[in-house]
Amino acid sequence: MAHSFSLDITLNADLHCHSTISDGTLTPEELAQRAQANGVQLWALTDHDEVSGIERAAVAAHGLGLPFLAGAELSVSFAKETVHIVGMGMDPRNQTLVDGLKKIRSGRLQRAQEMGESLAKAGIQGAFEGALQYVGNRDLISRTHFARFLVEKGVCKDTGEVFRKYLTEGKPGYVAHEWATLEEAVAWIHGAGGMAIIAHPGRYKRLRASEEHALFTEFCALGGQGVEVITGSHTPVDAQKYAQVAKDFHLLASRGSDFHSPEESRIDLGALPLLGSTVEPVWAHLADRILY
Ligand code: AMP
Ligand code: MN
Ligand code: MN
Ligand code: MN
Repeated sequence: MAHSFSLDITLNADLHCHSTISDGTLTPEELAQRAQANGVQLWALTDHDEVSGIERAAVAAHGLGLPFLAGAELSVSFAKETVHIVGMGMDPRNQTLVDGLKKIRSGRLQRAQEMGESLAKAGIQGAFEGALQYVGNRDLISRTHFARFLVEKGVCKDTGEVFRKYLTEGKPGYVAHEWATLEEAVAWIHGAGGMAIIAHPGRYKRLRASEEHALFTEFCALGGQGVEVITGSHTPVDAQKYAQVAKDFHLLASRGSDFHSPEESRIDLGALPLLGSTVEPVWAHLADRILY
């Protein structure tokens, strides 16, 4: 099958989503099916700090004839903010990447125990054990799993409310954590032959304008190549702003829903605005990484 993705900004590419390997509720196979049913033409799985779902996703995508890219979303600490860097088109078996991701994941269980203790002090008992029931991969317990447990317990009406009231800085249940450095994350992605992309930049509300500028400047100095312009959490104003940032920093533009769950996510796989005509898509430079 011949594909010409090249500079096609109208391509329905969805290069950011999560499976049960991290904090999504669908398996890699279910995601592949949903992506295809929704008209996605180029798909990537980007679990948090994990590539262990990639093989399953690739096999499922292949069976459906859905062009697929290996991906992961790496947790990074930058200027006291958690920043996410999406790696795209890596070799998921690259040992340095695998070891790096393992290092990022290693603190999650301890953090989760501390979150449980913190929530207990706020009167919510058993949250650590409760969150664990939602975890598909014991190595990857996230705040999302706590949010699901608190909704099940009736503490909050939805996961958004849990994050507002409990799991963000200054709230009971929030535990600060040191993730990888920006330099490490970009190096691991590049070492595995991938492209580094700043995920959902509109979400880093704790970064001052000067810090955000430093993030883009340092990312570019490290050889980072892309930025998500169209993503589930961006407003039209965000999309416009980061299309301009992409141009200013000579970055390629990416598009991804950040889909986690049919029940929780507002934007479904593939159901995003198209990339604007002013940017150059990341997939123009990923043709040789696409698995069919
Ligand atoms: P963690 O990596 O454990 O800190 O968890 C981060 C995850 O929490 C993100 O990837 C999102 O899936 C989820 N998340 C963060 N903020 C919110 C929010 N305001 N509403 C719903 N989910 C959120
Ligand atoms: Mn998530
Ligand atoms: Mn993210
Ligand atoms: Mn994500």
